[in-house]
Amino acid sequence: MARTVLIAGNWKMNKTIAEGESFADGLKSSIGDHDCEFAVFPPFFSVPFVSARLEGAGVTVGAQDLFWEKSGAFTGEISAEMIADAGGTAVLIGHSERRHEIGETNDVVSRKLKAALDAGLVPVLCVGETLEDREAGDAEPYVRIQLESAVAGLTVHQVQRMILAYEPLWAIGTGRTASPEDADTMHRFVRKFIESRFGADLAASIRILYGGSVKPENATALLGKEDIDGALIGGASLDLDTFLGIAAAAEDPS
Ligand code: PEP
Repeated sequence: MARTVLIAGNWKMNKTIAEGESFADGLKSSIGDHDCEFAVFPPFFSVPFVSARLEGAGVTVGAQDLFWEKSGAFTGEISAEMIADAGGTAVLIGHSERRHEIGETNDVVSRKLKAALDAGLVPVLCVGETLEDREAGDAEPYVRIQLESAVAGLTVHQVQRMILAYEPLWAIGTGRTASPEDADTMHRFVRKFIESRFGADLAASIRILYGGSVKPENATALLGKEDIDGALIGGASLDLDTFLGIAAAAEDPS
C-alpha cells in the first residue's frame, strides 16, 4: 500500500513568531516543487501564526506536547482542545526529550495520546530506545514496551489516525544516525507489532517516520528503505533550505 512520504520539522524551543511566519511563507511557496507531505511543529505560541500563514497549503501544523486534561487548575499546561483552537491539527506525543529530560513515563504518554485522539488531533507517537538498551541488544523489547503501553485500549479506528516515529534516543541531536538497515529493521518490527494488534491493513497503511540527525546527506538512504515513510527532523528542520533539501533527497532514489 502506498504511503505518502511525510517530512516533519520539530522546531523544539526555537524560532520567534516572526521567524516562524517567514519560514511558513517560504515553505508555502515551495510546496509545488515537492511530491511529499510536510508538517511543522512550532512552539505553542507560534502555532496560530504559522497555521494562519500555511492555510490552504496542505501543510500540517502541530504542537510539540499537550496536557491530558481538557481544562482546569494545571498551571502552565496546554490542552489538546487549545491546540485545535489555535489552528493546530497534530501533536507530538512522547518525544524523547520529554520522556528523558522532563521525565514523562509511559503512563503519561498514554494519557496524552488518548487526549490527542479524543480532541481529533493527529498524534505523532514517538518511541525509541536508549544507547544502553541498543548496546545490550534490547532495543526491540524497549520499543515494544513503549508501544504496548501507548496503544493499550485503543481501537483500530483510533490507531488509524496516528503516525508513529521511531527515534533512537542516542541519535537525536547528536549527529549520530542509525544505519538505514538498523532503522528499517526497527520500522519493520514496529509495523509487525501494529499488525499483531490491529491487523494487516492498518499495519500496511500506518506511517512510521524515522528521527535522529536526519539531514540532506543521509535522507536518500534512510527514506529509500521500504518501511521508512518519512522523517521527523529537529536541528536540520530549522533552516528552510536544509528542510527542503531533505524532502528533495527523499524524493530522489539515486
Ligand atoms: C527530533 O527532535 O525529533 C530530532 C530527531 O532531532 P534531530 O533531528 O536534531 O536529531
